[in-house]
Amino acid sequence: MKIKFTLPLIFLTTGILLGGCSKSSAKEPAVYDNSGIAMGTVVSQRIYSQGEDKTGEILHLLTQVEQQYLSWRQEDSGIGQINQQAGKAPAAVDGQTMDYLKESLSLAEKSGGAFDPTMGKLTRLWDVESENPRVPDEEEIQRLLKESGFDKIQLNSQDGQNQVKLEKGCSIDLGAVGKGIGCDEAAALLEKDKDAQGAVIAVGGSVLTWGAKPDGTDWKVAIRDPRGEQEDLLGVLTLKGERYVSTSGDYEKYFIQDGKRYHHILDPDAGYPADAGLISVTALGENGLISDGLSTACFVLGLKKGADLLKKYNAEGIFVDQKNQVYVTEGLSDIFSLEASGYIVFPFPS
Ligand code: ADP
Ligand code: MG
Repeated sequence: MKIKFTLPLIFLTTGILLGGCSKSSAKEPAVYDNSGIAMGTVVSQRIYSQGEDKTGEILHLLTQVEQQYLSWRQEDSGIGQINQQAGKAPAAVDGQTMDYLKESLSLAEKSGGAFDPTMGKLTRLWDVESENPRVPDEEEIQRLLKESGFDKIQLNSQDGQNQVKLEKGCSIDLGAVGKGIGCDEAAALLEKDKDAQGAVIAVGGSVLTWGAKPDGTDWKVAIRDPRGEQEDLLGVLTLKGERYVSTSGDYEKYFIQDGKRYHHILDPDAGYPADAGLISVTALGENGLISDGLSTACFVLGLKKGADLLKKYNAEGIFVDQKNQVYVTEGLSDIFSLEASGYIVFPFPS
């Protein structure tokens, strides 16, 4: 898998250079910065703590969560075991994988299938990150579409036992919520650490802000300009305490064929890259899994239906459309500042 080393968004705004760890005086909390790879992406962390550096532990935790529960590549992960059993007897599953699946299936239902955790085979067919990506054969797309669909997953929890039945040919892929789950697990670790005071952690396009900065100022989370260079900002969110910010866009993983852009977020109805008029969606929900899943789902749904879905989750969002119009939900209107030129901000349609 190719991994792009990009300057992490969260640090762009503050201009902090990443490097080793720096410790300040005894009374002040130490500042721990770390940039590494986990969950197939760049993980950038800043933690303010009176105690030890936990950034390495968090990076390790993210890798473990991926390998133990989420990875479809790993045959012995929770998801890997379910996929192995497709078309056979139900798979016995650990509680954590079951919890991720329950929340994912609920989002699949609420989004009318725009978020669909069974897009794995189609994602692999499109393989937009391969050396020579190209539009797949129409027949092959249709064949895999028939075998996918979240209605092909059945969950069953009884007497403390969890079982998942998956229909033949179907394959689960939680790629659209994995980084958000990473943020949830990082927050849970910080919660248990009595010395940690504040943290901002970016797992690729999913960012967690947690606690407070020692100087009392708010967290700044930058959102990338979907049509700019890697370091260009669309704008900045000013946030307090524990928030989850996930962004999905057509600019991260894509290829161009015959002048048309083909990206990695698929419309589960069509089997082709979603084309509902949006180029970037940022979502802020109650946890990382939901925020990450919402950003993907709303991208597929487009402005109006995406806005309705955000309401179901009491979530906030920033949508950018193909005409460079930036729609900001009411709850973010005072804390989002547009930085890029060429865009105009609008309130969300009611
Ligand atoms: P990223 O993983 O780049 O942060 P997303 O969170 O939007 O972006 O997730 C996109 C990934 O989710 C794809 O690479 C694919 O594995 C999977 N996927 C693609 N389309 C869908 C969809 N409609 N519903 C659920 N998962 C999807
Ligand atoms: Mg997502």
